[in-house]
Amino acid sequence: MKYQKPKGTADILPPFSKEWQFVEQNARETFALYNYEEIRTPIFEKFEVFSRSAGDTSDIVTKEMYDFDDKGGRHIALRPEGTAGVVRAFVENKLYGPEHQKPVKVYYMGPMFRYERPQSGRLREFHQIGVEAFGSDSPKIDVETIMMGMDFLKKLKVSGLKLVINTLGDKESRDRYRQALIDYLEPHFEELSDDSKARLHKNPLRVLDSKDKNDQKIVENAPEILDFLTEDAQKHFTSVKEELDTLGVDYVVDSSMVRGLDYYNHTIFEIMIADSPLGKGDVTICAGGRYNGLVEELGGPEVSGVGFGLGVERLLLLLNAETQTTLQSKQLDFYVVGIGDLVQNDVLKVVHELRQMNFVTEQDYLDRKPKAQFKSADKLNAKYVVTIGESEMNDRVFKLKDMHSGEERTVALSEINTLKDLLK
Ligand code: ATP
Ligand code: MG
Repeated sequence: MKYQKPKGTADILPPFSKEWQFVEQNARETFALYNYEEIRTPIFEKFEVFSRSAGDTSDIVTKEMYDFDDKGGRHIALRPEGTAGVVRAFVENKLYGPEHQKPVKVYYMGPMFRYERPQSGRLREFHQIGVEAFGSDSPKIDVETIMMGMDFLKKLKVSGLKLVINTLGDKESRDRYRQALIDYLEPHFEELSDDSKARLHKNPLRVLDSKDKNDQKIVENAPEILDFLTEDAQKHFTSVKEELDTLGVDYVVDSSMVRGLDYYNHTIFEIMIADSPLGKGDVTICAGGRYNGLVEELGGPEVSGVGFGLGVERLLLLLNAETQTTLQSKQLDFYVVGIGDLVQNDVLKVVHELRQMNFVTEQDYLDRKPKAQFKSADKLNAKYVVTIGESEMNDRVFKLKDMHSGEERTVALSEINTLKDLLK
């Protein structure tokens, strides 16, 4: 084959594209209920927008960036995640200004790019749906964000959801914890993986997130963030938990949970799913949290933020079989069969009128015999078949067959408007 898609990318073909539309539409509907509006930002940004926000030690920045110098010598990167661009836009367009209702609530969806080793559920071009809320320190908005993620997944009938939360505290809590972690990890320095060695002093929290088996063993007995929280941080986390309790949401606190990106603080959460098509054990499907400080990092004022991101490809693997079948099944309102060359103008007009009445309508484009056209109507699952032969044409009528009941009747062409209530 001469041309193939780039490694780590996928073609989204019909009818599977319907599953994408279904997921996207559900996201839009759910987020709208929480009064979120869509934001669209460029697919590429200055490299620094991502390196500043994700942190220089993150996997994304050190290993996975799709970056290049453009013809003008600018260092550009395809976006590896959604938040950085949204924050850049928030700052550049001064959405923190007094004329904007706080919190500013936005959602996005679209392709992201990471130079990774492609495997099942891991692509170089993949898609995320995410939300961000700026300008509120209230635990309420943390909880609302979590609820919105859960609602969205529930609406898609994804089963076996498990909500895991933790706090990374405020800056003071984190500084204290950071030191305690360094003190704990230093004696193990020689045993750590190379990645973890490099991160130990730059960002020791990252070591907790290591995928290296030996690192994970060492980390098992590490001190826990919950013991280093300031009173404020403690209070914030307690409120989050109480509100989740009030709403009757089940959750687990995992004090060892940290984040791949550097900018999180206070509440972080993951929605996981156990033993699913994604794999054995718990696999994260949606991840988010609070990122006070990121807006400042990208040159804006001190405005807090909270949000989540969710991988669409992985989510699609979780749609249940029933949903998939429904979405992939073909269904047509009308198929218009024309018999003979002379009737083509009538067919043209009837097809057009039916579409004007909002009916999904199909016809033959390949000059096929009636038999083949009826076969198509069947295959496409048409609810009604209209037939126009020469005698119908001469009488200014068409035949209308209800494919479900088998009932057939004759309708005058001039009365075609009476069909408009047919599928109500
Ligand atoms: P992982 O540990 O699996 O690499 P991550 O921590 O890099 O995940 P995030 O940066 O938190 O992931 O991105 C949020 C979500 O985006 C993930 O939970 C996953 O569903 C999805 N995701 C991330 N990278 C990829 C990829 N390369 N291909 C497909 N989906 C991805
Ligand atoms: Mg990753």
